Amino acid sequence: MNTLILRLALPAPVFGLFDYLPPPGVDPALLRPGQRLMVPFGPSERCGLLVKLTGETGVPASRLKAARQLLDEQPLLDETHLDFLAWAAAYYHHPPGEVLMSALPVRLRKGKPPLKPRPSHAFLRQVPEDEARALKKRAPRQAEVLAWMQGQGGCIRLEDFRRRFPSGRSALNALCAKGWAALGLGESAPARAQTPPHDLEPEQQAAVTAVTAGLDEYGAFLLDGVTGSGKTEVYFHIAEQVLARGCSVLLLVPEISLTPQLVRRVASRLAVTVAVMHSGLSAGEREQAWQLARTGRAQLVLGTRSAVFTPMPQLGLVLVDEEHDASYKQQEGFRYSARDLALVRARRAACPVVLGSATPSLESLKNAMDGRYRWLRLTRRAGGAKAPAMQVLDVRNQRLAGGMSPPALQALEQTLGRGEQAMVFLNRRGYAPVLSCYGCGWLSDCPRCDARQTLHRGQGKLICHHCGSERLLPKICPSCGSVELHPLGQGTEQLEEGLSRRFPDYPLVRIDRDAASRKGSLDRLLARVKQGGAGLLVGTQMLAKGHHFPNLTLVVVVDVDSGLFSADFRSAERMAQLIIQVAGRAGRAELPGQVLLQTRFPQHSLLRSLVEQDYNAFARQALKEREMAALPPYSSQALIRASARRPDTAEDFLQQAAELAGQLAQGRVLVWGPVPAPMQKRAGRHRAQLLLQAGRRPELQHLLGALVPALSSLPDAGRVRFSVDVDPVDLY
Ligand code: ADP
Ligand code: ZN
Ligand code: ZN
Repeated sequence: MNTLILRLALPAPVFGLFDYLPPPGVDPALLRPGQRLMVPFGPSERCGLLVKLTGETGVPASRLKAARQLLDEQPLLDETHLDFLAWAAAYYHHPPGEVLMSALPVRLRKGKPPLKPRPSHAFLRQVPEDEARALKKRAPRQAEVLAWMQGQGGCIRLEDFRRRFPSGRSALNALCAKGWAALGLGESAPARAQTPPHDLEPEQQAAVTAVTAGLDEYGAFLLDGVTGSGKTEVYFHIAEQVLARGCSVLLLVPEISLTPQLVRRVASRLAVTVAVMHSGLSAGEREQAWQLARTGRAQLVLGTRSAVFTPMPQLGLVLVDEEHDASYKQQEGFRYSARDLALVRARRAACPVVLGSATPSLESLKNAMDGRYRWLRLTRRAGGAKAPAMQVLDVRNQRLAGGMSPPALQALEQTLGRGEQAMVFLNRRGYAPVLSCYGCGWLSDCPRCDARQTLHRGQGKLICHHCGSERLLPKICPSCGSVELHPLGQGTEQLEEGLSRRFPDYPLVRIDRDAASRKGSLDRLLARVKQGGAGLLVGTQMLAKGHHFPNLTLVVVVDVDSGLFSADFRSAERMAQLIIQVAGRAGRAELPGQVLLQTRFPQHSLLRSLVEQDYNAFARQALKEREMAALPPYSSQALIRASARRPDTAEDFLQQAAELAGQLAQGRVLVWGPVPAPMQKRAGRHRAQLLLQAGRRPELQHLLGALVPALSSLPDAGRVRFSVDVDPVDLY
């Protein structure tokens, strides 16, 4: 008889799983993949996840150890999910133990027992009026709680309740005991205040019909709809049908757009338990949400990138909003794309996946053009709002005041004069990107990076945006002692200063990471603007997403050129997406919007196709350029990055990797480099990279499969830090 071998994932940087014998005294019939076990590991003990039961092992019998303890009666993850995680680890060439274990909440990874489900909101049920009135005298505390809950729309988060009534729990419990209120799990669904669905426009209806025609099978859809065309409404209509069949829905959104407003919008529209997953949760909150999803108590999971790994039984629909957004790509550790994994996940769950965007990535557009995705288009704004007019402002021979050209300033003045709002967009925070000395030419170089420290006048500091190094703003030149220190170029802080001096009678709100770094302050700033009235918004890409300002009619993009000319071949695509997203903030039915783009290259062909035609025309032309240059999506890339304290070490290591890759690839994969990274020195480390590129994805995968596990045995591997990035979106 064969011995039973348990193959486990353990959190270790190793390309493989670990074999153990069953724990003594445990009936092998109780063992199933997805359970956790404590196992001996080196001198200590670790928690691992059972991936497979097998009869074979490469470990010699003398070295095979027995697991110590079975932790779970029931598997935490089912086999479909384990397969999915293993596939992701293999595709991104990341140690499978790390990928599998990191799919568990932190406490569970450490072998702790799962938390009991804990209610997170309370809502009001039937409240008999006369009895409620009588409550004021008999139980004033309960009456107070009741009145507050009614004032909050009948549904409150317990967290808010505890803040409002630190010792009010017994009053709430009493209301529950009467049957007037009840506690609930997950995000609240205001029980009675349902938002009624809109009647769909014909294009929206066609999209819903296309997706719901095949709810039992995999199908990929690109929902390509201009901003405000009602994509979210389409998601809701599809989700309703999926939920009605008893299936669950995974809705992924970019980091920046997961706001309390969105959660409320989802919860009030779809009367189901919603679990929210994002990086801002505490470990306990995260585990609660994860358990709700895993056990099927939450039918809808709303989350950012890592939510793609949430186990969900009966998954019936995957939605990826703003699918082009770069925040779907994890940029460190396990470098996955949640957008791409969403497709894999849907295929395994045999359900549809919808990628939505007003500015689809070139990758997704090509898939749609090639027929791999069904292409669903929403060309009209819901409610009849017009798309804003875009116009290029040639600033070549203009005198700029704080970065603004005279025509742009004039347009601002007119807009404000009409009692409307304007937005000035500049994707550079701080006061100025460099401080320079007119006496000797000194520049505010970062001591640890090949970059300059940015001047932050408000904080009185020079700060490097790449490594965070900072110093106090010098009063005299550190090199020659001159007082002639001057900022070069501008950031949002300087724009704010210049514009508030020029338009002192109008409120101005700056929105960027510095202004919004205190928790909740961004929401407060935005609420002020949304109240309406004339006003100016100044900010970075934080302004571009998710928010709608009904009184906004003018957008000025201060510097288009920084996106058109950059070392990264994706920068034009990003700039075009940003322009369209910012433009989408302007205009409504009765107030058409206007977008002004300041440039020194008004003839740039990509810019012209974007302005004179639309994003789609831009995308087609950009795709042609990519095809001619054999760049993604017409090829597949992987990037090996290395860094070291001393110059040359990283390049030496990558040279060894390049030689090995060359032997393994046998001409089927291009090996470029090693070359210094675009920013050669960062945070005190010297960086280099090696680019691998193949015409066909399987050839690249084949090479990586042999190359990556061998990297750590290369002669200089011990002297560098290195990482492998499959389908990199950023060459830095
Ligand atoms: P998107 O996600 O494409 O930006 P939303 O779904 O957020 O668009 O819709 C934009 C606005 O239009 C929202 O206020 C929404 O309530 C409204 N809306 C969406 N669909 C319709 C419709 N069919 N009829 C009327 N209003 C709609
Ligand atoms: Zn000087
Ligand atoms: Zn730095």
